[in-house]
Amino acid sequence: MNSQDRWALVAEVRVHIPLPLRAFADGEATVSVEAGSVDSALAALRAAYPALAARLLADDGHVRPHVNLFLDGRSVRGLDPSELNIGAAAELTIVPSIAGGAPELSREERLRYHRQLILPELGVEGQRRLRTASVLIVGAGGLGSPVALYLAAAGVGRIGIVDGDLVEVSNLHRQILHDTPSIGTQKTASAGARLRALNPEVEIVEFPLRVDASNALQTLQGWDIVVDGCDNFPTRYLLNDACVLLNIPLVYGAIHRFEGQASVFAAEGGPCYRCLFRDPPPPGFAPNCAEAGVLGSLPGIVGSIQATETIKLIAGIGTPLIGRLLLIDALGGDYRSMEIRRDPDCRVCGDDPEITELADYELFCGESTEDGVEPSPFVIPAGFKLPVPFPGLDALELKELLDAGRQPILLDVRDLAEHAMSNLADLGAVSLPMEELERRLDEIDYDAETIVFCRTGQRSMQAVEFLHSRGYVRIFNLTGGINGWARDVDPSLPVY
Ligand SMILES: [Zn+2]
Repeated sequence: MNSQDRWALVAEVRVHIPLPLRAFADGEATVSVEAGSVDSALAALRAAYPALAARLLADDGHVRPHVNLFLDGRSVRGLDPSELNIGAAAELTIVPSIAGGAPELSREERLRYHRQLILPELGVEGQRRLRTASVLIVGAGGLGSPVALYLAAAGVGRIGIVDGDLVEVSNLHRQILHDTPSIGTQKTASAGARLRALNPEVEIVEFPLRVDASNALQTLQGWDIVVDGCDNFPTRYLLNDACVLLNIPLVYGAIHRFEGQASVFAAEGGPCYRCLFRDPPPPGFAPNCAEAGVLGSLPGIVGSIQATETIKLIAGIGTPLIGRLLLIDALGGDYRSMEIRRDPDCRVCGDDPEITELADYELFCGESTEDGVEPSPFVIPAGFKLPVPFPGLDALELKELLDAGRQPILLDVRDLAEHAMSNLADLGAVSLPMEELERRLDEIDYDAETIVFCRTGQRSMQAVEFLHSRGYVRIFNLTGGINGWARDVDPSLPVY
């Protein structure tokens, strides 16, 4: 407090906040404080908006060298302290000479970003903030594609892309980062090439990996914002928990058939994904780890909303989706936003959180194996899309089909030892053990109706999922497996 205050009139001081700092002043462009001098105005500002003051003032209370203050149009720097008294209603304008330490925009940047620079809400300061910002996008798929393209185009200075998958032909109807020549290449490489071609001004960092509990904190650390472009529950909960622990806002998006959701989680004071959904659904209760198909343009809508939210957060403009869940119904042409609150009992962001480190998120997926049978070495590639409810039929339905004269190919994916124990060779079943499936894909007729079976129907389900991911559409699962067939149709076969 300046000692001159005792002698000065206390008046209303209107403080103009520059756009990049508005996020620290509740989004206000102008705030009012009662003060008799510049010093006391700053003290009042510090009391009301500590985060803002921290950006204006050094620890010793002096105005930071890259910030200029103008009192009624005159710079306060270099003025005699006696001239700093505020006698009547006054205006104090904050002008950060260099926002975030970024230099002036180049001519090339002014041309490239012209159409958004002329938006008064964004302007040059907003553009500088975009340039100094860093955003990590987890998933270079349907959601990650529009997010990455728009953020790179908008000039976000540093963009990280995390994805462990290769580009597949079935990705291309919605994953617009990738193209036909990039089929079979790493998604991160394909994305990197596309984004660098789009905007050489931005730095693209590729992470060709799948995030898990062992690498998430290391991968996410240091980024300003994380964008959730994943398609499965383990990664979704992992990202949420990691962002809460690291205090990084998470721009959330999810899609399912014709519907989507978007929100901003783990932001200061706002809820997280677990506040909304405490735990993942039990296996089989939701189309988890896969999707029931998706309209190609839907991730375009949701991803564009995520890109917009990200830009809003960086530039400190508008009202972000913090504490709101946006529901998108593409078929109904309906958008609704629901209010959501931080849950004080939340397991990760609550007042007394029980989750303080990352756990094994893969278990959430409910990847169970059949009793007594070793897990298959066969691994479903991440990121493919699975129709739900899954096309399957039980033993009695299969019997009906065969009795009616249909001749589907019966594909036995069990190993040879199991095949020796019990098989459907009488019905012309073909043996193709699970672990050889990928290598011997050519042997499966794309056009033939094929029913896959194993012992109880679980491994065959994985096989069906895999074949779907490779473009096979006439593939069905025999639920209950050969044991079901033995029980319900042919008791001469052993149940094992
Ligand atoms: Zn929470």
